[in-house]
Formats: sequence, C-alpha cells, structure tokens
Amino acid sequence: MDNMKLAALLFPDVTLTPEDLEVKYPPRNLPEGARVTRFAPSPTGFLHIGGLFGALTDVLVARASKGVSFLRIEDTDKKREIDDGVSAIIRGFEAFGVDFTEGVTGFGTEKGDYGPYTQSQRASIYHAVAKRLVEEGKAYPCFCTAEELTALRERQETDGALIRGYFGKYAKCRNLTLEEIEANLAAGKPWVLRFRSEGSEDKRITFEDLIRGKIEMPENIIDEVLLKSNGIPTYHFAHVCDDHFMRTTHVIRAEEWISSVPKHIAMFKACGFKVPKYIHTAQVMKLDDETGDKRKLSKRKDPEASVSYFVEKGFPREAVIEYLLTLLNSNFEDWRRANPNLDAMDFPFNLKKMGSSGCLFDLTKLTDVSKNVISHMKASDIYDRVAAWAKVYSPAFHAVFTIDPAFSTAMLNIDREVPKPRKDIAKWDEVEAYFSYFFQEPDADPSLLPERVSPADVKAIVSCCCENYEPTEDKDAWFARMKSWCPALGFCPEVKEYKKNPEAYKGHVGDLSSVVRLAVTGRTNTPDLCTIMQLLGKEKVSARLNRFAAKLG
Ligand code: GLU
Repeated sequence: MDNMKLAALLFPDVTLTPEDLEVKYPPRNLPEGARVTRFAPSPTGFLHIGGLFGALTDVLVARASKGVSFLRIEDTDKKREIDDGVSAIIRGFEAFGVDFTEGVTGFGTEKGDYGPYTQSQRASIYHAVAKRLVEEGKAYPCFCTAEELTALRERQETDGALIRGYFGKYAKCRNLTLEEIEANLAAGKPWVLRFRSEGSEDKRITFEDLIRGKIEMPENIIDEVLLKSNGIPTYHFAHVCDDHFMRTTHVIRAEEWISSVPKHIAMFKACGFKVPKYIHTAQVMKLDDETGDKRKLSKRKDPEASVSYFVEKGFPREAVIEYLLTLLNSNFEDWRRANPNLDAMDFPFNLKKMGSSGCLFDLTKLTDVSKNVISHMKASDIYDRVAAWAKVYSPAFHAVFTIDPAFSTAMLNIDREVPKPRKDIAKWDEVEAYFSYFFQEPDADPSLLPERVSPADVKAIVSCCCENYEPTEDKDAWFARMKSWCPALGFCPEVKEYKKNPEAYKGHVGDLSSVVRLAVTGRTNTPDLCTIMQLLGKEKVSARLNRFAAKLG
C-alpha cells in the first residue's frame, strides 16, 4: 500500500504538518516541575459541582507548581451542544473565583498562545496529525455503514467474542487495497478514519495514576475512530492532539475515563507524542434521602448538582471552595488551621492527598462551614454581598435592604466583629427571613410566651418598658433596668436566686426579656435584644409592645 498516496487522497488540502505544529506550539517555558493542567468541559450550559471539583484541582495543582491551567471547550459532540453553553460554565467559575491562566474566557473569547481553545476551531490541527498517521500506515479509512456495524456486533455476539468492537478479523476495512479505497471515494461513500491498532489480545499494559497508583489493563486492540465522517475528531483523538500541542503535563479528569487510557496511550505513542501523567478523580456522591445509599449526585434529581444552585442560594464562594477543599484534599484542614487567614486559592494542593473513592457531598456540612465563614466576615462586606445577591435573586428585598445601608449594616453587625461571633446565617437567601422584624412589624404569637407569665404580667412588663426604656443605654444598663422592675412585678431579679426559691416569685428577669423579645421581634430567640431595640428606636419598640399587649385582650 502506498500510504503517502492514500494520505494525499484522503486529505488533499492538508498542507500543515505536525512539525509546523511543534514550532507553533513549542514546549512551554516553565520552571522545573511546573505542571500544566486543563479543564475540558463540553458546552452543555451546565456546570456540575463535580466540574467545579475538577477545575479547582486543575487550577490549584498548576498554581502550587507555578505552572499553567487552561480551560478548553470540547464541542465536538454536536448532539450535546446547546447554544452558548459556554457562558454558564464561565460564569460558574467566575462566581467561585476559579481562575484559569489561559483558555476560553467567554462565548467566542479566549487568551493564551496555545489556542484555539475550542475544539471545533482546531480541525486543521487534527487533520494534520491524522494525515501523518495515514502516511505512516497507522490509520485507515473505513467505509462501513451503520448496518454493517450492526451486523458486526451481531456476529460478535453469536461468536461469543470476549472483546467487542472493530478489530482484527472483524475490521473489514483494515486491509482494503488502494484501488478499493479509490473506488469507494470515487463513489462518494462516506468514511471515517480509524486507528490501526498494533495491540495484541494477550498483552497487558500498566500505567501510573497519580492518585490510584499502578493500574494494569489489557492492551487496546480496537481500531478506534479518530475522525468522524464529517471530519470532526472523536474525544479520544482530540484529547491526544490537544493535550500534546497544548503541552498538558497532567491530565486530571473524571474516573469514567480510566477504561480509555490504554487507547489513549496507544494513540499518543503512534503519534510520537509523550504520554501525559493521568489522574482520575473520584465522583461526587451523596447519601440518598430515601434509601440512605451512597449514589452519584444527579443533575436530574439533585438541585445541588449544579454550581448555579449555590449562587442562587447565596452561599459565599469562599464557603463552597473551603468545603470542596476539605473533601478534595486530606491535607486541607491542617493547612487551614495553620493558616487561618490565607486565601484558599493559595493552598499547596497535593495530588497524592486526594482520595480515589467517591467523596460524599453533604449540604449540612457545607452549611456549617458557611456559617463559620460568614461569622468571620465584616458586616460591611456582608452588606455588599447581600445587596449584590438580592439585586438579582430577590429584588423586593433588595429595595428595603438598601434604603438605609448604615441601618442594614448595623443590623448585620449585631453580635459580629466580636471574639465569638454568632454563627447564624449560612447563605444570603436566609437574611430576609432571619431579620424580618427589622423590615416589618412582627405578628407575635402569644402562645410562645413563657407559661408562668400571665396576660396581666405582660401588660405590666409592657407598661414598665414603654415608660422606662432608655435606648441610649448599653446592654448592661438595659439589663439592670429590667432587674429594677422585677420586685414590683413579683419577679426575681436574679436567676440563681429564683432557682433556689421558685415558689417565692412569678418568674425571673429572663422572663421579662422573653416578653419584650417576643413583642418586639416575634421570636423567642434573636441576636442581642438591646441592640435590636436601639436600632428600631423607642417609638417602634413601644408601638410593638403595646400592640402585643392589646392582643392579649
Ligand atoms: N469533555 C470531556 C468531558 O466532559 C473531558 C474529559 C477530559 O477531561 O479529558 O467528560
């Protein structure tokens, strides 16, 4: 077979060569040990939380080694593509501060010298490599129709073939003569380009996965499709060409690709390219609410499978990243304890500390992490974030929340910026309900009153408070003032004293503050009541107290 002739026949217009590409995309000029990683999603318009896991790993591994991470869009599967499926993915990364060094930056935009970073724009690269493989007898055209391929599958079934696919004796087009190929082409028969596998059924290969260790598998014997009939590459061939010419050193991808590694290694070798290092990450799992079993986070069943869920709910990005890192790297928590104030993006990510079995994504744990992260934020920072979130996701709340920024900031600052701040809010969509009594009169429910407090006691407490409340007083003075009302009301000013002799009193000073709290906020539990009352002002406080007392008849 005259392979040069065949290559010219199949790719008459291709003049670009792999040597040209080597010059255009030279090895990167990076320090020793620098890692080049990539995140390579299909533009589905959906960023799965597992994708954020992967991308975070890519970016941190590159950063920790002073390397490069880039975002490549894999849009060769036209069926899955949706219009502008890229923007949602980019927005997802932006929202979480995951910042690639290079690659696609938006719908139709990119940065870096190793592009284009969108596969549909790289046809000339794939074709240059494909042509060379044909010239070297390592790839051949296959004219089998869909019916013929179905017949082949059926034959393999009847034969009980252990390996299924296009290979060896089943590979009908593997040994076509040049004349036969010419005749097929002249007849306008569609063709795909297949890899001519040199693998043998009884050989095995081993490769090192950086988190899973040595993996041994049968060698690839399948004549895999490299280019589809429309000239578009398959994932396998695009992966090999792209990761070579983009000079990826570490391919970090989902574990579902492990079984394809023998194929990929064979292709890298056939092309004369160095095989990159592989890391296959574990899947993100959850405990099924109904069955209690561990299962994959599903796009269909679990809203939290989508990264947009966390943006819509208003989880601060630091909390999500912080939580993901505790799942991703067993070193993270120790590092965090030693470096409480560093940006999580500075974490020296260690691939060896990544787990290889599915990690459990637990919303409750994320919620706790988030409460902790928010508790350490400054009120003014929270104000800005809540305002930005509400503008998009809760415009009506945004309107009231931003009328008086100083007021809302003071509200957020209650029990904050102190040594032991409250850990009450986990996400911005809770702020409106949590602080509702600041924006609207509460409808306090009298059944929440302490049992030992009668309606007459409430009225007496309310009247003391309306007459004597002094909003300029601090917490201690306010409490002392409530204590001073106790004797006349028949309540004990000291809780300890009351406990010693409960029969002697109706209740204690705590009951007074419970009544005031309920009347003013509608709640039995709030942040510091004294500050809440100061912020509301005497007029509102008195009105709410009186309204509550009136409810009791
Ligand atoms: N486009 C592939 C996917 O979305 C990427 C796999 C890889 O990272 O190589 O699964």
